[in-house]
Amino acid sequence: MSAPVVDRFMQLAPIDNPSGGEAVIRDFLASSLAKLGLDNQVIDAAGNLLVRVPGDPNKPTLLLSAHMDSVPPCHGIQPVQDASEGRPVIRSAGKTILGADDKSGMAVILEVMSRLKHPNSENNPPSNHPLELLFSTQEEVGLLGAKALDRKQLKADYAYVLDGEGSAGDIFTAGPTQYHFVIECHGRAAHAGIAPEAGLSAIQMMAAVCARLPQGRLGPELTANVGTIEGGKATNVVADFAKIRGEIRTHHEAPLKALLQEYQEICQQVNANFPGGSITFEPLRRYDAFSVSGDHVSVQKAQAVFEANHIPNSLLSMNIGSDAHILNQFGIPAVVLGMGFHFSHSLGEFIYVDELQQITEVVSQLVRGD
Ligand SMILES: [Zn+2]
Repeated sequence: MSAPVVDRFMQLAPIDNPSGGEAVIRDFLASSLAKLGLDNQVIDAAGNLLVRVPGDPNKPTLLLSAHMDSVPPCHGIQPVQDASEGRPVIRSAGKTILGADDKSGMAVILEVMSRLKHPNSENNPPSNHPLELLFSTQEEVGLLGAKALDRKQLKADYAYVLDGEGSAGDIFTAGPTQYHFVIECHGRAAHAGIAPEAGLSAIQMMAAVCARLPQGRLGPELTANVGTIEGGKATNVVADFAKIRGEIRTHHEAPLKALLQEYQEICQQVNANFPGGSITFEPLRRYDAFSVSGDHVSVQKAQAVFEANHIPNSLLSMNIGSDAHILNQFGIPAVVLGMGFHFSHSLGEFIYVDELQQITEVVSQLVRGD
């Protein structure tokens, strides 16, 4: 017989949940929680599901969150259990991702709620922390659900985002600022065979820029990447347009500012070598870095519970975006907990069964406040 949280995960895994198509999984969560008596539920305009759970009003309100969407390919996921990693894991049958990112978070919240007793009587009030359960939409396509939240709806004092790639015991207390950038090169079209000298190749301009942009791991907490290039219409036309898209991630403002300045200068310098053409650089800030102090009660409590359960823990910073970014921007200290899944966003994604059970136990103790 498998653990209840594993059964819950196996039930959630086959539900299709592409970004923007979270309605089915949201209905499943909403009705599962309603059956537990948790019917104080709000679905906002962005499709986020927020569920309030009564608790001891003398305790701080905790927010638990998981995002409802998965990256493609996530249709028709067939979860299978095996021991291919040396101990029991769940992975997909191979044609899709597994979607433990973030069905592990949903499964843990459902299981933790089913363990809570809700006496709901004045003589016998619940002793757990008051809770807000946030199931967000479109996290994978730019934290869109979280960004659209009405801040006033949230009363939480601090939050645990159940969405971390890594081990049960990993506490991610910091995340980077992310920028997207677009570089557009405008040249001049001409017939490539009849009058090439009348043209100005935007592709050559783009290549000259690309060759000079610093990319890859540029510092301990600074990365940059050109992710896509496009341009040109036909082999017999000198290309009049080309476009570069990329991203920069950093935990610190100073090197970020310096890099943006350098990118801008490179574009100007290359442009000077292509008279008559134009190169524009457009950076777009997507979200701000966050950092929660190791002294914060959310971190201290999590560490204490991990230690009480003999689970090694570590404070880490991550280099990806998460709903924790937005919650921290709202002024709600939020850390991300490792869920035991690895290789997310790939067909090789898997989750360790024992770690899924461990994190369930830890979250269960965190919400009881014992
Ligand atoms: Zn995720």
